[in-house]
Amino acid sequence: MICAIVSAPTIAQARADLATAAKVADLAELRLDYLEEPLDVAALLTDRPCPVIVTNRPARQGGSFAGSESDRISSLMEAIALGAEYVDIEYDAVGRLGDRLGTRIIVSYHDFERTPKDLRSIAQSLLGTGADVIKIATYINDITENFRLRQVAAGLGIPTIVIGMGSKGVMSRILSKKFGSLLTYAALTRKGASAPGQLTVSELDQLYGFRRNAADAKVFGVIANPVAHSISPHIHNAAFRKTGMNAVYVPLEVDALGPFLEGCGVLDFGGFSVTIPHKEAALRLVDEVDDATGRIGAVNTIAVRGGRLVGTNTDCTAAVEAIRSGLLPGEELAGKRALLLGAGGAARAMAFGLVGEGVKVTIANRTFERAERLADEAGCSHVKWEERAGVNADIIANSTSLGMHPAVDVTPMPASALRGGQVVFDAVYNPRETRLIAEAREAGCSVVDGLEMFVAQAVAQFEFWTGQAAPAKVMRDAAKAALGAKEDWE
Ligand code: NAP
Repeated sequence: MICAIVSAPTIAQARADLATAAKVADLAELRLDYLEEPLDVAALLTDRPCPVIVTNRPARQGGSFAGSESDRISSLMEAIALGAEYVDIEYDAVGRLGDRLGTRIIVSYHDFERTPKDLRSIAQSLLGTGADVIKIATYINDITENFRLRQVAAGLGIPTIVIGMGSKGVMSRILSKKFGSLLTYAALTRKGASAPGQLTVSELDQLYGFRRNAADAKVFGVIANPVAHSISPHIHNAAFRKTGMNAVYVPLEVDALGPFLEGCGVLDFGGFSVTIPHKEAALRLVDEVDDATGRIGAVNTIAVRGGRLVGTNTDCTAAVEAIRSGLLPGEELAGKRALLLGAGGAARAMAFGLVGEGVKVTIANRTFERAERLADEAGCSHVKWEERAGVNADIIANSTSLGMHPAVDVTPMPASALRGGQVVFDAVYNPRETRLIAEAREAGCSVVDGLEMFVAQAVAQFEFWTGQAAPAKVMRDAAKAALGAKEDWE
Protein backbone atom coordinates (compact mmCIF):
# COMPACT_ATOMS: atom_id res chain seq x y z
CA MET A 1 0.00 0.00 0.00
CA ILE A 2 1.04 3.59 -0.61
CA CYS A 3 0.38 5.96 2.29
CA ALA A 4 0.44 9.63 1.22
CA ILE A 5 1.72 12.10 3.78
CA VAL A 6 -0.58 15.01 4.57
CA SER A 7 1.53 17.55 6.43
CA ALA A 8 -0.34 20.79 5.71
CA PRO A 9 -0.16 23.93 7.88
CA THR A 10 -3.92 24.61 7.75
CA ILE A 11 -7.03 22.49 8.18
CA ALA A 12 -8.39 23.63 4.82
CA GLN A 13 -5.17 22.62 3.06
CA ALA A 14 -5.06 19.29 4.93
CA ARG A 15 -8.60 18.49 3.78
CA ALA A 16 -7.69 19.39 0.19
CA ASP A 17 -4.59 17.17 0.44
CA LEU A 18 -6.68 14.29 1.82
CA ALA A 19 -8.91 14.58 -1.25
CA THR A 20 -5.81 14.36 -3.48
CA ALA A 21 -4.44 11.44 -1.45
CA ALA A 22 -7.73 9.58 -1.88
CA LYS A 23 -7.19 9.68 -5.67
CA VAL A 24 -3.55 8.60 -5.79
CA ALA A 25 -2.85 6.53 -2.66
CA ASP A 26 -4.42 3.76 -0.58
CA LEU A 27 -4.50 5.76 2.62
CA ALA A 28 -3.10 8.99 4.09
CA GLU A 29 -1.05 9.82 7.14
CA LEU A 30 -2.50 12.92 8.74
CA ARG A 31 0.35 14.68 10.54
CA LEU A 32 -1.37 16.79 13.20
CA ASP A 33 1.99 18.11 14.38
CA TYR A 34 2.51 20.10 11.15
CA LEU A 35 -0.65 22.18 11.67
CA GLU A 36 0.06 25.83 12.38
CA GLU A 37 -3.47 26.67 13.51
CA PRO A 38 -5.52 25.41 16.47
CA LEU A 39 -6.06 21.68 16.30
CA ASP A 40 -9.59 20.57 15.33
CA VAL A 41 -9.46 16.81 14.88
CA ALA A 42 -13.18 16.54 14.10
CA ALA A 43 -12.89 19.09 11.27
CA LEU A 44 -10.13 16.96 9.78
CA LEU A 45 -11.68 13.52 10.16
CA THR A 46 -15.39 14.10 9.52
CA ASP A 47 -16.39 12.82 6.05
CA ARG A 48 -12.78 11.99 5.22
CA PRO A 49 -12.34 10.67 1.67
CA CYS A 50 -9.88 7.86 2.47
CA PRO A 51 -8.63 5.75 5.40
CA VAL A 52 -6.17 7.60 7.63
CA ILE A 53 -3.30 7.08 10.00
CA VAL A 54 -3.44 9.89 12.56
CA THR A 55 -0.03 10.90 13.88
CA ASN A 56 0.93 13.72 16.25
CA ARG A 57 4.67 13.32 16.56
CA PRO A 58 6.59 14.99 19.42
CA ALA A 59 9.98 16.63 18.85
CA ARG A 60 11.80 13.79 20.71
CA GLN A 61 10.77 11.40 17.88
CA GLY A 62 11.48 13.85 15.05
CA GLY A 63 8.05 15.54 14.97
CA SER A 64 6.90 19.15 15.29
CA PHE A 65 4.24 19.06 18.03
CA ALA A 66 5.02 21.90 20.44
CA GLY A 67 2.15 21.46 22.96
CA SER A 68 1.98 19.42 26.16
CA GLU A 69 2.13 15.63 26.22
CA SER A 70 -1.40 15.42 27.62
CA ASP A 71 -2.75 17.59 24.75
CA ARG A 72 -0.93 15.36 22.31
CA ILE A 73 -2.39 12.15 23.73
CA SER A 74 -5.85 13.77 23.89
CA SER A 75 -5.70 14.56 20.17
CA LEU A 76 -4.99 10.90 19.42
CA MET A 77 -7.80 9.75 21.76
CA GLU A 78 -10.14 12.08 19.91
CA ALA A 79 -9.06 10.55 16.60
CA ILE A 80 -9.86 7.10 18.04
CA ALA A 81 -13.28 8.33 19.21
CA LEU A 82 -13.90 9.64 15.66
CA GLY A 83 -13.16 6.19 14.24
CA ALA A 84 -9.72 6.80 12.67
CA GLU A 85 -8.57 3.61 10.94
CA TYR A 86 -5.08 3.83 12.48
CA VAL A 87 -3.36 5.90 15.14
CA ASP A 88 0.45 6.02 15.22
CA ILE A 89 1.97 6.43 18.68
CA GLU A 90 5.54 6.22 19.87
CA TYR A 91 6.61 3.15 21.87
CA ASP A 92 7.36 5.28 24.95
CA ALA A 93 3.86 6.79 25.06
CA VAL A 94 1.59 3.90 24.06
CA GLY A 95 0.85 3.07 27.73
CA ARG A 96 -0.96 6.40 28.06
CA LEU A 97 -3.49 5.63 25.34
CA GLY A 98 -6.92 4.59 26.67
CA ASP A 99 -9.56 2.42 24.97
CA ARG A 100 -8.63 1.70 21.34
CA LEU A 101 -12.23 1.02 20.17
CA GLY A 102 -11.99 -0.13 16.54
CA THR A 103 -8.79 1.79 15.71
CA ARG A 104 -5.63 -0.19 14.97
CA ILE A 105 -2.62 1.09 16.88
CA ILE A 106 0.74 1.49 15.13
CA VAL A 107 3.49 1.54 17.76
CA SER A 108 6.49 3.28 16.25
CA TYR A 109 10.21 3.55 16.84
CA HIS A 110 12.40 6.14 15.07
CA ASP A 111 16.13 6.68 15.02
CA PHE A 112 17.10 9.64 12.85
CA GLU A 113 20.83 9.03 13.22
CA ARG A 114 21.51 5.34 12.79
CA THR A 115 20.15 1.83 12.35
CA PRO A 116 20.79 0.15 15.71
CA LYS A 117 22.46 -3.26 15.81
CA ASP A 118 19.76 -4.77 18.07
CA LEU A 119 16.80 -4.28 15.72
CA ARG A 120 15.35 -7.65 16.68
CA SER A 121 15.15 -6.85 20.39
CA ILE A 122 13.66 -3.43 19.54
CA ALA A 123 11.03 -5.22 17.45
CA GLN A 124 10.34 -7.66 20.31
CA SER A 125 9.81 -4.83 22.81
CA LEU A 126 7.42 -3.09 20.36
CA LEU A 127 5.52 -6.37 20.06
CA GLY A 128 5.25 -6.45 23.87
CA THR A 129 3.21 -3.22 23.88
CA GLY A 130 0.18 -4.98 22.40
CA ALA A 131 0.54 -3.11 19.12
CA ASP A 132 -1.67 -4.02 16.15
CA VAL A 133 1.12 -2.88 13.80
CA ILE A 134 4.75 -2.10 14.61
CA LYS A 135 6.79 0.49 12.76
CA ILE A 136 10.57 0.79 12.73
CA ALA A 137 12.08 3.76 10.88
CA THR A 138 15.85 4.16 11.11
CA TYR A 139 18.48 6.24 9.33
CA ILE A 140 20.61 4.24 6.90
CA ASN A 141 24.31 5.17 7.02
CA ASP A 142 25.47 2.19 5.00
CA ILE A 143 23.32 0.59 2.33
CA THR A 144 23.78 -2.93 3.82
CA GLU A 145 21.73 -1.80 6.85
CA ASN A 146 18.67 -2.11 4.58
CA PHE A 147 19.25 -5.86 4.55
CA ARG A 148 18.96 -5.95 8.37
CA LEU A 149 15.68 -4.01 8.21
CA ARG A 150 14.42 -6.51 5.65
CA GLN A 151 15.29 -9.42 7.92
CA VAL A 152 13.68 -7.96 11.02
CA ALA A 153 10.34 -7.51 9.24
CA ALA A 154 10.21 -11.21 8.38
CA GLY A 155 8.48 -13.54 10.84
CA LEU A 156 7.24 -11.10 13.50
CA GLY A 157 3.69 -12.43 13.16
CA ILE A 158 1.94 -9.03 13.00
CA PRO A 159 1.84 -6.37 10.28
CA THR A 160 5.09 -4.45 10.28
CA ILE A 161 6.24 -1.22 8.68
CA VAL A 162 9.98 -0.81 8.09
CA ILE A 163 11.52 2.32 6.60
CA GLY A 164 15.17 3.09 5.89
CA MET A 165 15.57 6.86 5.97
CA GLY A 166 18.09 8.95 4.03
CA SER A 167 19.39 8.63 0.48
CA LYS A 168 20.83 5.16 1.19
CA GLY A 169 17.46 3.88 2.44
CA VAL A 170 15.54 4.68 -0.75
CA MET A 171 15.46 0.99 -1.77
CA SER A 172 13.44 0.15 1.38
CA ARG A 173 10.78 2.64 0.31
CA ILE A 174 10.56 1.42 -3.29
CA LEU A 175 10.77 -2.28 -2.37
CA SER A 176 8.44 -2.16 0.64
CA LYS A 177 6.50 -5.21 -0.63
CA LYS A 178 9.73 -7.19 -0.74
CA PHE A 179 10.71 -5.90 2.69
CA GLY A 180 7.46 -7.35 4.08
CA SER A 181 6.33 -3.84 5.02
CA LEU A 182 2.59 -3.18 5.33
CA LEU A 183 2.98 0.11 3.47
CA THR A 184 5.39 2.72 2.18
CA TYR A 185 5.07 6.44 2.87
CA ALA A 186 5.28 8.98 0.05
CA ALA A 187 4.86 12.73 -0.30
CA LEU A 188 2.16 14.29 -2.46
CA THR A 189 4.68 16.84 -3.75
CA ARG A 190 8.46 17.11 -3.51
CA LYS A 191 8.07 20.00 -1.03
CA GLY A 192 5.74 17.90 1.13
CA ALA A 193 8.34 15.25 2.07
CA SER A 194 8.37 14.72 5.84
CA ALA A 195 11.42 12.48 6.16
CA PRO A 196 14.84 12.29 4.46
CA GLY A 197 14.85 10.13 1.32
CA GLN A 198 11.06 10.13 0.99
CA LEU A 199 9.82 9.86 -2.62
CA THR A 200 6.64 11.30 -4.09
CA VAL A 201 3.60 9.14 -4.82
CA SER A 202 4.07 9.77 -8.53
CA GLU A 203 7.76 8.75 -8.45
CA LEU A 204 6.85 5.51 -6.67
CA ASP A 205 4.05 4.70 -9.02
CA GLN A 206 5.10 6.06 -12.41
CA LEU A 207 8.87 5.80 -12.25
CA TYR A 208 9.28 2.69 -10.05
CA GLY A 209 6.07 0.87 -11.06
CA PHE A 210 5.02 0.30 -7.43
CA ARG A 211 1.52 -0.88 -8.30
CA ARG A 212 2.57 -2.74 -11.43
CA ASN A 213 5.13 -4.95 -9.72
CA ALA A 214 4.40 -7.89 -7.41
CA ALA A 215 6.29 -8.73 -4.22
CA ASP A 216 8.39 -11.30 -6.11
CA ALA A 217 9.65 -8.73 -8.65
CA LYS A 218 13.28 -9.11 -9.74
CA VAL A 219 15.36 -6.18 -8.57
CA PHE A 220 18.03 -4.38 -10.59
CA GLY A 221 19.87 -1.21 -9.70
CA VAL A 222 22.62 1.27 -10.37
CA ILE A 223 25.55 1.05 -7.96
CA ALA A 224 27.12 4.50 -7.76
CA ASN A 225 28.13 7.28 -5.42
CA PRO A 226 26.66 9.82 -5.78
CA VAL A 227 23.60 8.30 -7.44
CA ALA A 228 20.80 10.84 -7.05
CA HIS A 229 21.30 12.38 -10.51
CA SER A 230 21.48 9.09 -12.40
CA ILE A 231 19.05 8.82 -15.30
CA SER A 232 19.45 5.01 -15.40
CA PRO A 233 16.32 4.34 -13.26
CA HIS A 234 14.27 6.27 -15.85
CA ILE A 235 15.71 4.27 -18.75
CA HIS A 236 15.55 0.77 -17.26
CA ASN A 237 12.19 1.11 -15.54
CA ALA A 238 10.75 2.34 -18.85
CA ALA A 239 12.10 -0.82 -20.48
CA PHE A 240 10.60 -3.09 -17.78
CA ARG A 241 7.27 -1.29 -18.10
CA LYS A 242 7.26 -1.63 -21.89
CA THR A 243 8.12 -5.35 -21.82
CA GLY A 244 5.67 -6.04 -18.97
CA MET A 245 8.36 -7.64 -16.81
CA ASN A 246 7.81 -8.03 -13.07
CA ALA A 247 11.02 -6.11 -12.38
CA VAL A 248 12.16 -2.83 -10.88
CA TYR A 249 15.39 -0.81 -11.08
CA VAL A 250 16.49 1.23 -8.06
CA PRO A 251 19.27 3.70 -7.19
CA LEU A 252 21.88 2.15 -4.87
CA GLU A 253 24.17 4.61 -3.10
CA VAL A 254 27.06 2.31 -2.23
CA ASP A 255 30.19 3.28 -0.28
CA ALA A 256 31.94 -0.10 -0.14
CA LEU A 257 31.16 -2.48 -2.99
CA GLY A 258 32.42 -5.72 -1.38
CA PRO A 259 30.05 -5.78 1.65
CA PHE A 260 27.13 -4.71 -0.54
CA LEU A 261 27.67 -7.57 -3.01
CA GLU A 262 28.15 -10.04 -0.14
CA GLY A 263 24.86 -9.07 1.51
CA CYS A 264 22.67 -8.50 -1.54
CA GLY A 265 21.46 -12.14 -1.67
CA VAL A 266 18.82 -11.19 0.95
CA LEU A 267 16.85 -9.52 -1.86
CA ASP A 268 16.06 -10.96 -5.25
CA PHE A 269 18.62 -9.00 -7.27
CA GLY A 270 18.88 -9.87 -10.95
CA GLY A 271 21.71 -7.51 -11.84
CA PHE A 272 23.42 -4.18 -11.51
CA SER A 273 24.73 -1.27 -13.52
CA VAL A 274 28.03 -0.17 -12.00
CA THR A 275 29.39 3.32 -12.35
CA ILE A 276 31.70 5.91 -10.76
CA PRO A 277 33.58 5.10 -8.52
CA HIS A 278 33.06 1.31 -8.46
CA LYS A 279 33.83 0.02 -11.99
CA GLU A 280 37.37 -1.12 -11.26
CA ALA A 281 36.57 -2.67 -7.86
CA ALA A 282 33.71 -4.55 -9.54
CA LEU A 283 36.20 -6.32 -11.80
CA ARG A 284 37.94 -7.79 -8.73
CA LEU A 285 34.71 -8.74 -6.95
CA VAL A 286 32.70 -10.60 -9.60
CA ASP A 287 32.90 -14.41 -9.90
CA GLU A 288 33.24 -14.44 -13.67
CA VAL A 289 34.20 -11.98 -16.41
CA ASP A 290 34.76 -12.19 -20.18
CA ASP A 291 38.24 -11.65 -21.63
CA ALA A 292 37.48 -8.30 -23.27
CA THR A 293 36.20 -6.86 -19.97
CA GLY A 294 39.28 -8.18 -18.19
CA ARG A 295 41.48 -6.29 -20.68
CA ILE A 296 39.48 -3.06 -20.33
CA GLY A 297 39.93 -3.36 -16.58
CA ALA A 298 36.43 -2.19 -15.61
CA VAL A 299 33.00 -3.82 -15.13
CA ASN A 300 29.93 -1.63 -15.74
CA THR A 301 27.37 -4.47 -15.71
CA ILE A 302 26.79 -7.41 -13.36
CA ALA A 303 24.21 -10.17 -13.84
CA VAL A 304 23.29 -12.42 -10.90
CA ARG A 305 23.05 -15.93 -12.35
CA GLY A 306 22.42 -18.84 -9.98
CA GLY A 307 23.98 -16.89 -7.13
CA ARG A 308 27.09 -16.07 -9.18
CA LEU A 309 28.06 -12.53 -10.15
CA VAL A 310 28.87 -12.35 -13.86
CA GLY A 311 30.53 -9.12 -14.99
CA THR A 312 30.84 -7.49 -18.38
CA ASN A 313 31.50 -4.10 -19.94
CA THR A 314 28.85 -2.66 -22.24
CA ASP A 315 30.53 0.79 -22.56
CA CYS A 316 32.99 -0.60 -25.09
CA THR A 317 30.56 -1.74 -27.80
CA ALA A 318 28.25 1.17 -26.99
CA ALA A 319 31.00 3.70 -27.73
CA VAL A 320 31.95 1.91 -30.95
CA GLU A 321 28.31 1.82 -32.09
CA ALA A 322 27.85 5.51 -31.25
CA ILE A 323 30.95 6.48 -33.25
CA ARG A 324 29.94 4.19 -36.14
CA SER A 325 26.58 5.99 -36.31
CA GLY A 326 28.47 9.18 -37.27
CA LEU A 327 29.99 7.63 -40.42
CA LEU A 328 28.55 8.17 -43.87
CA PRO A 329 26.45 5.30 -45.27
CA GLY A 330 28.76 2.54 -46.52
CA GLU A 331 31.80 3.87 -44.64
CA GLU A 332 33.77 1.45 -42.43
CA LEU A 333 35.54 2.09 -39.14
CA ALA A 334 38.47 -0.10 -40.14
CA GLY A 335 41.43 1.96 -41.33
CA LYS A 336 40.16 5.28 -39.89
CA ARG A 337 42.40 7.42 -37.67
CA ALA A 338 40.94 8.47 -34.31
CA LEU A 339 42.13 10.98 -31.74
CA LEU A 340 40.97 9.82 -28.32
CA LEU A 341 40.91 12.55 -25.68
CA GLY A 342 41.28 11.19 -22.15
CA ALA A 343 42.62 8.02 -20.54
CA GLY A 344 40.09 7.33 -17.75
CA GLY A 345 37.45 4.62 -17.48
CA ALA A 346 35.43 5.61 -20.55
CA ALA A 347 38.63 6.07 -22.59
CA ARG A 348 39.78 2.54 -21.76
CA ALA A 349 36.53 1.09 -23.10
CA MET A 350 36.79 3.26 -26.24
CA ALA A 351 40.46 2.51 -26.89
CA PHE A 352 39.98 -1.28 -26.77
CA GLY A 353 36.72 -1.05 -28.72
CA LEU A 354 38.12 1.12 -31.53
CA VAL A 355 41.37 -0.85 -31.84
CA GLY A 356 39.25 -4.02 -32.06
CA GLU A 357 37.49 -2.49 -35.09
CA GLY A 358 40.78 -1.80 -36.85
CA VAL A 359 40.89 1.94 -36.05
CA LYS A 360 44.34 3.59 -35.64
CA VAL A 361 43.97 5.36 -32.31
CA THR A 362 46.12 8.19 -30.90
CA ILE A 363 45.54 9.05 -27.24
CA ALA A 364 46.03 12.49 -25.68
CA ASN A 365 45.49 12.90 -21.97
CA ARG A 366 46.22 15.65 -19.45
CA THR A 367 48.26 13.21 -17.37
CA PHE A 368 50.75 11.95 -19.91
CA GLU A 369 51.69 8.75 -18.03
CA ARG A 370 48.08 7.52 -18.13
CA ALA A 371 47.96 8.07 -21.91
CA GLU A 372 51.23 6.23 -22.26
CA ARG A 373 50.03 3.26 -20.18
CA LEU A 374 46.69 2.92 -21.97
CA ALA A 375 48.33 3.28 -25.38
CA ASP A 376 50.72 0.51 -24.42
CA GLU A 377 47.99 -1.84 -23.21
CA ALA A 378 45.51 -1.25 -26.04
CA GLY A 379 47.98 -0.95 -28.93
CA CYS A 380 47.57 2.77 -29.70
CA SER A 381 49.96 5.68 -30.16
CA HIS A 382 49.96 8.70 -27.86
CA VAL A 383 50.88 12.39 -27.85
CA LYS A 384 51.14 15.06 -25.20
CA TRP A 385 47.90 16.84 -24.30
CA GLU A 386 49.33 20.12 -25.71
CA GLU A 387 49.92 18.42 -29.08
CA ARG A 388 46.36 17.15 -29.60
CA ALA A 389 45.32 19.87 -32.07
CA GLY A 390 48.09 18.77 -34.45
CA VAL A 391 46.92 15.16 -34.76
CA ASN A 392 45.53 14.27 -38.17
CA ALA A 393 42.31 12.36 -37.44
CA ASP A 394 39.08 11.28 -39.14
CA ILE A 395 37.42 10.78 -35.76
CA ILE A 396 37.73 12.85 -32.58
CA ALA A 397 36.33 11.12 -29.50
CA ASN A 398 36.12 12.98 -26.20
CA SER A 399 36.19 10.80 -23.11
CA THR A 400 37.30 13.49 -20.69
CA SER A 401 34.76 15.14 -18.42
CA LEU A 402 35.51 18.56 -19.98
CA GLY A 403 32.28 20.30 -21.01
CA MET A 404 30.18 18.42 -18.46
CA HIS A 405 27.74 20.32 -16.26
CA PRO A 406 28.36 22.71 -14.56
CA ALA A 407 31.52 23.78 -16.47
CA VAL A 408 29.69 23.86 -19.80
CA ASP A 409 31.84 26.65 -21.30
CA VAL A 410 34.89 24.40 -21.43
CA THR A 411 35.86 22.27 -24.43
CA PRO A 412 38.60 19.62 -24.77
CA MET A 413 39.46 20.66 -28.36
CA PRO A 414 40.01 24.17 -29.80
CA ALA A 415 37.40 25.00 -32.46
CA SER A 416 40.23 25.91 -34.86
CA ALA A 417 41.33 22.24 -34.86
CA LEU A 418 37.97 20.90 -36.10
CA ARG A 419 37.59 20.16 -39.81
CA GLY A 420 34.49 19.51 -41.88
CA GLY A 421 34.09 15.79 -42.65
CA GLN A 422 35.43 14.61 -39.29
CA VAL A 423 33.25 12.52 -37.00
CA VAL A 424 33.18 14.17 -33.56
CA PHE A 425 31.87 12.10 -30.67
CA ASP A 426 31.46 13.47 -27.14
CA ALA A 427 30.89 10.94 -24.31
CA VAL A 428 29.57 13.76 -22.10
CA TYR A 429 25.76 13.64 -22.11
CA ASN A 430 24.84 16.26 -19.53
CA PRO A 431 24.32 18.49 -21.38
CA ARG A 432 23.84 16.74 -24.71
CA GLU A 433 24.79 19.89 -26.65
CA THR A 434 28.30 20.46 -25.29
CA ARG A 435 30.49 23.26 -26.55
CA LEU A 436 32.53 20.64 -28.46
CA ILE A 437 29.40 19.32 -30.20
CA ALA A 438 28.18 22.84 -31.04
CA GLU A 439 31.55 23.94 -32.47
CA ALA A 440 31.99 20.69 -34.39
CA ARG A 441 28.57 21.08 -35.98
CA GLU A 442 29.48 24.66 -36.87
CA ALA A 443 32.69 23.39 -38.53
CA GLY A 444 30.70 20.92 -40.68
CA CYS A 445 31.61 17.75 -38.77
CA SER A 446 29.32 14.77 -38.31
CA VAL A 447 28.46 14.91 -34.59
CA VAL A 448 27.35 12.19 -32.15
CA ASP A 449 26.46 13.14 -28.58
CA GLY A 450 26.94 11.07 -25.41
CA LEU A 451 23.29 10.09 -25.15
CA GLU A 452 23.74 7.61 -28.03
CA MET A 453 26.44 5.77 -26.09
CA PHE A 454 24.52 5.98 -22.83
CA VAL A 455 21.40 4.46 -24.36
CA ALA A 456 23.42 1.80 -26.21
CA GLN A 457 25.21 0.66 -23.02
CA ALA A 458 21.84 0.51 -21.21
CA VAL A 459 20.26 -1.49 -24.05
CA ALA A 460 23.13 -3.99 -23.88
CA GLN A 461 22.74 -4.22 -20.08
CA PHE A 462 19.03 -5.00 -20.38
CA GLU A 463 19.81 -7.75 -22.87
CA PHE A 464 22.66 -9.16 -20.73
CA TRP A 465 20.34 -9.40 -17.70
CA THR A 466 17.16 -10.64 -19.35
CA GLY A 467 18.21 -12.43 -22.53
CA GLN A 468 15.43 -10.48 -24.30
CA ALA A 469 15.63 -7.80 -26.98
CA ALA A 470 15.51 -4.38 -25.32
CA PRO A 471 12.91 -1.76 -26.34
CA ALA A 472 15.62 0.67 -27.51
CA LYS A 473 13.30 3.44 -28.71
CA VAL A 474 11.41 3.53 -25.41
CA MET A 475 14.74 3.65 -23.54
CA ARG A 476 16.06 6.49 -25.73
CA ASP A 477 12.84 8.48 -25.26
CA ALA A 478 13.00 7.95 -21.48
CA ALA A 479 16.64 9.10 -21.42
CA LYS A 480 15.82 12.24 -23.40
CA ALA A 481 12.85 13.04 -21.16
CA ALA A 482 14.91 12.48 -17.99
CA LEU A 483 17.77 14.64 -19.27
CA GLY A 484 15.28 17.36 -20.21
CA ALA A 485 13.71 17.22 -16.74
CA LYS A 486 17.13 17.49 -15.13
CA GLU A 487 18.24 20.44 -17.21
CA ASP A 488 19.40 22.45 -14.21
CA TRP A 489 21.38 19.43 -12.85
CA GLU A 490 21.42 20.91 -9.38
P1 NAP B 1 37.39 9.27 -15.30
O1 NAP B 1 37.82 7.84 -15.29
O2 NAP B 1 37.41 10.04 -14.04
O3 NAP B 1 38.32 10.02 -16.38
C1 NAP B 1 38.26 11.43 -16.53
C2 NAP B 1 39.12 11.85 -17.71
O4 NAP B 1 38.95 13.26 -17.89
C3 NAP B 1 40.63 11.62 -17.48
O5 NAP B 1 41.22 11.30 -18.71
C4 NAP B 1 41.08 12.99 -16.98
O6 NAP B 1 42.44 13.25 -17.21
C5 NAP B 1 40.24 13.90 -17.85
N1 NAP B 1 40.12 15.24 -17.27
C6 NAP B 1 39.42 15.58 -16.15
N2 NAP B 1 39.54 16.92 -15.93
C7 NAP B 1 40.34 17.40 -16.93
C8 NAP B 1 40.82 18.70 -17.23
N3 NAP B 1 40.52 19.76 -16.47
N4 NAP B 1 41.59 18.86 -18.33
C9 NAP B 1 41.90 17.78 -19.11
N5 NAP B 1 41.47 16.53 -18.86
C10 NAP B 1 40.70 16.34 -17.78
O7 NAP B 1 35.91 9.41 -15.86
P2 NAP B 1 35.16 8.50 -16.97
O8 NAP B 1 34.35 7.48 -16.29
O9 NAP B 1 36.15 8.07 -17.99
O10 NAP B 1 34.14 9.58 -17.58
C11 NAP B 1 34.59 10.65 -18.38
C12 NAP B 1 33.40 11.33 -19.04
O11 NAP B 1 32.72 10.41 -19.89
C13 NAP B 1 32.36 11.83 -18.05
O12 NAP B 1 31.83 13.04 -18.50
C14 NAP B 1 31.28 10.76 -18.09
O13 NAP B 1 29.99 11.26 -17.76
C15 NAP B 1 31.35 10.36 -19.55
N6 NAP B 1 30.86 8.99 -19.77
C16 NAP B 1 29.83 8.85 -20.63
C17 NAP B 1 29.34 7.60 -20.89
C18 NAP B 1 28.20 7.46 -21.85
O14 NAP B 1 27.59 6.39 -21.90
N7 NAP B 1 27.91 8.49 -22.62
C19 NAP B 1 29.88 6.46 -20.26
C20 NAP B 1 30.95 6.64 -19.39
C21 NAP B 1 31.43 7.92 -19.15
P3 NAP B 1 43.56 12.85 -16.12
O15 NAP B 1 43.93 11.43 -16.38
O16 NAP B 1 44.66 13.80 -16.36
O17 NAP B 1 42.92 13.03 -14.75
